[in-house]
Amino acid sequence: MREDKEYMVYQSFLIKYAEIGTKGKNRYLFEDALIRQIKNALKKVEGSFYASKESGRIYVQAQSEYDYDEVVEALQRVFGIAWICPMLQIEEKDYDNLKKVVVDYIDQVYPDKHFTFKVDCRRADKNYPIHSEQMNRDLGEVILNAFPETSVNVHKPDVMVRVEIRKVVNIYSLMIPGPGGMPVGTNGKAMLLLSGGIDSPVAGYMIAKRGVKIDAVYFHAPPYTSDRAKQKVIDLAKQVAKYSGPIPLHIINFTEIQLYIYEQCPHEELTIIMRRYMMKIAERIARENEGLALITGESIGQVASQTVHSLAATNEVCTMPVFRPLIGFDKQEIIDISEKIGTFETSILPYEDCCTIFVAKHPVIKPNINIIHKSELNLNEKIEGMVETALETAELVWCD
Ligand code: ATP
Ligand code: MG
Repeated sequence: MREDKEYMVYQSFLIKYAEIGTKGKNRYLFEDALIRQIKNALKKVEGSFYASKESGRIYVQAQSEYDYDEVVEALQRVFGIAWICPMLQIEEKDYDNLKKVVVDYIDQVYPDKHFTFKVDCRRADKNYPIHSEQMNRDLGEVILNAFPETSVNVHKPDVMVRVEIRKVVNIYSLMIPGPGGMPVGTNGKAMLLLSGGIDSPVAGYMIAKRGVKIDAVYFHAPPYTSDRAKQKVIDLAKQVAKYSGPIPLHIINFTEIQLYIYEQCPHEELTIIMRRYMMKIAERIARENEGLALITGESIGQVASQTVHSLAATNEVCTMPVFRPLIGFDKQEIIDISEKIGTFETSILPYEDCCTIFVAKHPVIKPNINIIHKSELNLNEKIEGMVETALETAELVWCD
């Protein structure tokens, strides 16, 4: 399908959604969440906009001057949107006037008239005196008369001119793909373990795409990890927030715990034991904030701490479901998504995150859970107090 540059300024957009249309009686919840997310996304765009719904249609109306590309870009980050259709909306339904407006629309949107087209009218307002088939023929004819370079192709047209007769009349022909997924806020909340790497921001994005609201937690270990490393994680959270909406990022000082594990446990088990404590702490914060699940960027076999044995050992401490959306992905597939969502550039900045400082030369790749339990007994004396302190001294950064 042909998509010429938009030479006219559309004053409104028709927003089409896919999956949320199938939720029966709960449909309004999904529509309302979608409208909320659209409003939230447009808050950051210059101009003033009105988002509303009307019998199964969601509209965005510009109420001031605005930058077309900026608006489309913002809408393309709102999960739940299947298609963004810039359109002309008119209240005047008079048939002769409609013909004029359609010709005018074509003229403005397609400066080069060498294209084939088809007119597709829908008459939702059954009181409208002209049937859709008749409108298709009439409007096709006026377009052909006005622009003799055009021709009709009903099977594979370059341009599909859509006209919907409802309370108002919608005229559109461009359909810009949205991100798909479901509106954030329709599916509970989960706690993302966000590090400075490539994987976890992608994992957060993927779960948010299914409608889940995201909170995040980052474990840092000053002075072993720098302020720049922390800033990098904040920047990543902000980038993910462009899709998920604002993310409260809990920053946990993990230094004491890490050093204590380092002192008390065999070094080759360090990463696993540390990861178990990260999960436990993340779960505590999730629970305090009505989170129902954890999210990590783990993928089978990527590093020693992500063998199936290691994943099982880490998972053992969790009572909440742990979502690992990247579990079966290859690194390149993850990188492709991170480039698409704009986190890659930040993720590859060289600052150490806390895990990389204390890694053993030969970490266990098949941890034995009984041995891990035994090693953890060495932590009994102080670890609980340290976990409480870490929770009490958490810093909260609002990433928007
Ligand atoms: P990433 O690219 O997401 O950092 P990774 O390949 O470096 O992942 P690991 O360091 O083993 O893998 O971490 C696995 C997962 O554990 C991460 O995807 C993330 O969800 C979580 N994680 C690791 N380190 C931290 C940290 N310092 N703070 C919060 N979460 C972390
Ligand atoms: Mg990492």
